[in-house]
Amino acid sequence: MNRPRLIVIDDEPDLAGFVCDVAERAGFHTEQFNSARIFKEKYNGRADVIILDIMMPEVDGIEVIRFLAEDNCEAQLILISGFDSGVLHSAQKLATEQKLNYAGSLSKPFRYDDLNQLLNGLSIKPTNLTQQNAIEPPPADELHRAINQDELVVYYQPKVSLNGHFIAAVEALVRWQHPTHGLLSPDLFIPTAEQHGLIDELTWVVLKQAVAQCCLWRDQGLTVQIAVNMSASTLKELDLPEKMGDLVEKYGLKPSQITLEVTETALMQELTKSLDILTRLRMRGFHLSIDDFGTGYSSLVQLYRVPFSVIKIDRSFVMEMENDPEATTIVETIILLGHKLNMKIVAEGVETDLCCDKLARLACDQAQGYLFARPMPGDQIFSWFSQRLLHEK
Ligand code: C2E
Ligand code: CA
Ligand code: CA
Repeated sequence: MNRPRLIVIDDEPDLAGFVCDVAERAGFHTEQFNSARIFKEKYNGRADVIILDIMMPEVDGIEVIRFLAEDNCEAQLILISGFDSGVLHSAQKLATEQKLNYAGSLSKPFRYDDLNQLLNGLSIKPTNLTQQNAIEPPPADELHRAINQDELVVYYQPKVSLNGHFIAAVEALVRWQHPTHGLLSPDLFIPTAEQHGLIDELTWVVLKQAVAQCCLWRDQGLTVQIAVNMSASTLKELDLPEKMGDLVEKYGLKPSQITLEVTETALMQELTKSLDILTRLRMRGFHLSIDDFGTGYSSLVQLYRVPFSVIKIDRSFVMEMENDPEATTIVETIILLGHKLNMKIVAEGVETDLCCDKLARLACDQAQGYLFARPMPGDQIFSWFSQRLLHEK
């Protein structure tokens, strides 16, 4: 069994040892360095999580942050400091500006629970994707148990506005907090759920968590638009519009806060039935988004027949824009087409400033991608958008 790898860099051996103990209990394979210099010499790029004390003799944590940034390190970074929160905050800013995957911070002294909570909230993706490739998809009965035992957790990835008007919007992305393998990517278990008739149940778990989370954000004073992915089979449940209507009503939300993301491939099967359901959802005020646009078949026909309000351009085109003029032309054409049809356009997979600038120039409405944020647990979303709002003012 491959456990996720966690490295602790702290000049205090007692504290580093304590962190390793907690992390081992949480299921990590740990390694500690009491000198940043030795860490830099020995580091081989293989880490899923790095816990770094920013105040150390010789080489300090800020230098380590620079070193990791130059290495394009994708590990999730947790910062610790005995200093005031201002120092920690500046180090955090530095890390995010250099595109490191900042995952949280701890002020010394901290307790077992503080650390444990932070570790449990980590998304171990994507550094260990190779490691996840090594994991066999868990069998359907295990997934069934997981769905019923609340092992599925929903992460949220922010979408940002490119036209200067602040919006708080997120896409809900499911993960499986597996008792032995750690946090599993949806690509590893969604196909199993689809093949074994578990996907409707899974979708409802995600929808309920997402809607409940939306209420928590609302109570904090943040209205969030939320998008949820729908598989083909769920679009064949004739009572889906009523069930969705009841769900949002129960939580006091508006249907227009919810977007259902549907792929073209999902529409290929039994189009008439899906069309009936999608039209009724749209009539109730839910938004419908065509997901991964450009990768499926007969895209234009689907756009014409289904009452979509949003087009989501697939990341394969978005990510190629920098190097490939044809990809840019495709993106530009999709945006023009969508706008002519009165639809909003979202680009996914935005990883660089250059790409973001290009999209803004092409009048794309919203963008989503690692440039802004990776998917994160729901309780981090409020502060993420609050900081962004301050930044934009
Ligand atoms: P998707 O709907 O295309 O979701 C976007 C995926 O792109 C997410 O992967 C997200 O983490 C990733 N991503 C976001 N920004 C970037 C970026 O800048 N660069 C790159 N390279 N990737 C980026 P994730 O979370 O692993 O989800 C994978 C797929 O699993 C989703 O693709 C979706 O098709 C499916 N999925 C996730 N949650 C659910 C769910 O609740 N129900 C269903 N039916 N499918 C789901
Ligand atoms: Ca999606
Ligand atoms: Ca996609």
